[in-house]
Parts: sequence; structure tokens; C-alpha cells
Amino acid sequence: MGTVRCLLLAKKDPEKWKVFSELESLEKLRRGSMQWKADLESIGKFIPRFFKTTDFSEDLIMKTVGILQINGHEVPVTDPPHVAIFKNASFLEHSCHPNLAKSFTKDGHLILWAPKAIKRNTHLSICYSDAVWGTQERQQHLMHTKIFKCECERCLDVTEFGTNYDGFKCTTPDCIGVILPSSLKEWNSKWRCSTCGNHVDILFIKDILEKAGKDLNPMTRTADNCIKYIQNYQKWLTNRHFYICQAKIQLVQLIGTDPKELMTVPEDKLNLKLEYCKELLDLYEKLAPCEIRMLGTFCFELHSAIAEHTRRVALKTSLSPKNMLEESLLYVDKCINYLQHECDIFVEGHILKQAKINRDALRMVLVM
Ligand SMILES: [Zn+2]
Ligand SMILES: [Zn+2]
Repeated sequence: MGTVRCLLLAKKDPEKWKVFSELESLEKLRRGSMQWKADLESIGKFIPRFFKTTDFSEDLIMKTVGILQINGHEVPVTDPPHVAIFKNASFLEHSCHPNLAKSFTKDGHLILWAPKAIKRNTHLSICYSDAVWGTQERQQHLMHTKIFKCECERCLDVTEFGTNYDGFKCTTPDCIGVILPSSLKEWNSKWRCSTCGNHVDILFIKDILEKAGKDLNPMTRTADNCIKYIQNYQKWLTNRHFYICQAKIQLVQLIGTDPKELMTVPEDKLNLKLEYCKELLDLYEKLAPCEIRMLGTFCFELHSAIAEHTRRVALKTSLSPKNMLEESLLYVDKCINYLQHECDIFVEGHILKQAKINRDALRMVLVM
């Protein structure tokens, strides 16, 4: 339907059509690919037949499909999300470590903003893929949907800014090194330990990754299952490997998300939540600083875990918990900053509202 709507612009709104039709379609690169052939059958040949029209040539339809695929943004204000084209945003380049974040207004407008100051003369960028994925997933996704091989700063650095987000633990006894590909180009061939030089068979890497992916996806979402998964796969994967982190992300959101529930969470689970929230926040602020909804949510979870920890300390001892409350306030302030443009039709918009209430309450307590 999206393609038909765009094609109809030519008659209904020629000015808009002019802007639209001048956008990049990468038609030459797309032509002949599996996706292109599938689109040709399901859209290119289907539209003239179904609407019994000769108004649109197959070439024009396929170019329109290309423009939508290359420039479209998924807008989550409807269920299911719809695809929209934003003229100015279409000129932004991609990076897996971008400097612009995307938020949407209730009526589907796009807000682009910089969570961190951008140095003068730096190119503005957004992420066309998912910055939370590992390098190979991002590379494959970008090649498949946007037809290019990403060579951004993050992709070229196999350690991904020293986080070892794709790394395996070295299998040499007593070596604490990390096994990674020698370079982006050698992703499917040479993996070795940067400390002892130990080479590892790519089939071993692929086998573990396949199992880790398969086990994570259908995993019943309980805190204990996440803990078991992390313990098991940490035998091979680094503590900050993307699969381990995905399990940690689920875990911090499963432990006492509801404020009442948090009050009865056992001590060890509360400590785990505190530890992982801090670790994830630290990691993703480096790796994906524009994943604002995720970062804002971590800050909120961390702020509530610290507040709960403070409550327990105050009950048990006569210590003044002022510094802990200040820490809790720090993270709720950060949360508000990350989620500042989220509207209340999204979960994050509700978190923002609650965060503001909690911030005001914390400030009141702290001046008392
Ligand atoms: Zn990249
Ligand atoms: Zn080693």
C-alpha cells in the first residue's frame, strides 16, 4: 500500500512527488538481488494487475520501492508501525555510532537531536540499523536493506571501542585475552587472541554463536533463566558480549520492575540489578550513545534500585543515606534528559512522567 500511495502522489501532489522521486533508490544496485526479484513479483507485477492500470511502468514501481526501502523510517506511533519518508532526514548519513537520536511526536513527526555535544565540522549521522546488535548482524542488515558495506569507526575497530562486544574468551589456560577477528575484512576467517596469539577455528565461533542465539530467543522470560543463560555462555563469551548483554538487559527489567515488587526482591537479586544496570549503562553510553530510550530506561531502573537499596540500608543501620539518595537523583536526572522528547503514547513517555515525579520527591527529601 505504501508504494501505491507514493505513486499516486504524482497526480495528487506533484510537488511532493518531485521531492520524493529525486531521493536515492539505489535501483541499479538493488536490481537482480533476491529481495529485488521478490519485490518485482509481489509489488512490481502485482500493482498493474490488481489495479488494472497501465499508469505506472514496472521500472517506476521498482524505483519507488527502492526509494521507500532506502529512505523509509519506521514510525512506531501506529500499531503495526508505518513507514514514512522525511525529506531532510533522508540526507543524513549512517554510522553504527551515530551522533543523532530519533524521537517521534504523537502525530508521527520526527525529532532529531543530539544527546551529546557534537564537535564542529563533524558529519551528522543516524543509525540505519540497530546499534545494539553485534557487528556481523549490523553488517548483514545494512547490506540487505541499504545495500552497502558499513565501514564506520565502530565497524572498523573490531574491539568496538575496547568493549569487546563481539569477543570470545581465550581458550588458552590462564590467558585472559580476548578472541576477535583480525580485522573487519577477516570476520569470516581469522579469529585470534590479541594477548597470546592463539588461533581459533571459525566453525567453533559460528557454532557457539548459533547456539547462543537460538537459546536466547525462545527463552522463557524469567530472571532465573536469564541468570542461567549468562552463567552458561560466559564460559565462552566475554562479559560484554552482545548475547550476554541481551540477557542482562532482560534481567534488569525482570527484577522488580514494579515499585512494590522491588521492595520484596531478595538482596542478591537487587545487587545483581544494581551491578548490571551500571555495567550496561557504562557500556552502551560508549557503544550506542544515541539509543536514548534504552539508556533512559537503564537510568530509571538504576535510580529505583539505588532508592530501594537506600531504604534497606536506612532500615538496618543509623547511617545517613544522603549520598545514596544523591546518587539516585543523579540517575533520575539522567533518565529525564535521555527521555526528554518521548511522548506519552510510548512506555518511555510514561517512564519520563514517573521520573519527573520521583525527581521532585527526591529533591524534597534532600532539602529536608
Ligand atoms: Zn558500522
Ligand atoms: Zn590468549
